[in-house]
Amino acid sequence: MRATPVNLYDLTREELRLQLVRWDVNPFHAALLWNYLYLQLVGSFEEMTELPARVRSRLKAESCLGVLPTALETDSNDGFTRKYLLTLGDGARIETVLMRFTGRVTACISSQVGCAMGCVFCATGQMGYTRHLTPGEIVAQAVHVARALRTAREPHRLRNVVLMGMGEPLHNYDAVMHAVDILRDEAGLALGAGRITLSTVGVVPGIRRLAREQRPLHLAVSLHAATQAGRAALVPAAKKWRLDELMAACRDYSTATGRRIFYEWTLIEGQNDSADQARAVGRLLQGLPAQVNLIPLNPTSGYAGTPTRTEAARQFQHILKSEFKIPSSVRQRRGIDIAAGCGQLASTQS
Ligand code: SAH
Ligand code: SF4
Repeated sequence: MRATPVNLYDLTREELRLQLVRWDVNPFHAALLWNYLYLQLVGSFEEMTELPARVRSRLKAESCLGVLPTALETDSNDGFTRKYLLTLGDGARIETVLMRFTGRVTACISSQVGCAMGCVFCATGQMGYTRHLTPGEIVAQAVHVARALRTAREPHRLRNVVLMGMGEPLHNYDAVMHAVDILRDEAGLALGAGRITLSTVGVVPGIRRLAREQRPLHLAVSLHAATQAGRAALVPAAKKWRLDELMAACRDYSTATGRRIFYEWTLIEGQNDSADQARAVGRLLQGLPAQVNLIPLNPTSGYAGTPTRTEAARQFQHILKSEFKIPSSVRQRRGIDIAAGCGQLASTQS
């Protein structure tokens, strides 16, 4: 039986070099191949015209380019957000979102097909879990967006990646970190130096591992409630990783890395948007290096809640700022008309 071809997007630059040696190809070609993959962003072996034909045919025989075909592409009405539904090798589909706000171009990428964490208001949680993505499938999403940006009428470079699409990235830790290593490579997409943000529902062992390994990422933690009971009602995973353990892990993370954490708070009218709730989160985060990202609920078919109104969101921000000196932002609900399956939409600072 023939072995499954190697997905080139699964390999770091060093792994690619070693792989060429194994295929009896001069590793001298690795730099040019890498250049084709991540600078020229080619979509097929045929476009790698500067590689000798013999090398190309060997690559074709042994490997594949894990380009993800687009099943559907939708623009938001305001033109700031574009959502891609991408098809994986097994036919499963994932969402990748391209966002352009105030000069920042960001790709919001998925880490799993579905999600096992079951947050009640989340469309992905309502789907349930199907499988982890491979490193190559994670990398291919960033490549997809980078390629779309390069061929746009006003070409741009991909500047930022947020792991805030479908799935819980710390539930798929090894594949996500492998992908991050590939995305960071300075000879490639060069998304290093704080250009990647990972959002977690609060997987405590994963946060502790990130701190131990000193991973150069921005960390966002989805909080949504400031009490154990309130959080468990929205985020079932909070029953496993309790709020007190989560806050201890966050504190230790900030101490070990010297970095602040973004705390995400999906604002649901009448549920977690009162002045008392703002004070509760203020007390919880006081003294920690923190920024709160408030995300008005994006309505989903499986959850009856409604988004907080702008005035209530402003009041929440005001309390955090004036009483606790905690900066916050409210994500504008751009892209809502295309149901951009991503918490990271544009923000207004306060
Ligand atoms: N699994 C990770 C990352 C993906 S979700 C996490 O939960 O953090 C990214 C962010 O979008 C999270 O803060 C999540 O709570 C938020 N989110 C999910 N569904 C939402 C919805 N319907 N409306 C508003 N925010 C939502
Ligand atoms: Fe999973 Fe995040 Fe959605 Fe919760 S909010 S179900 S952790 S993707």
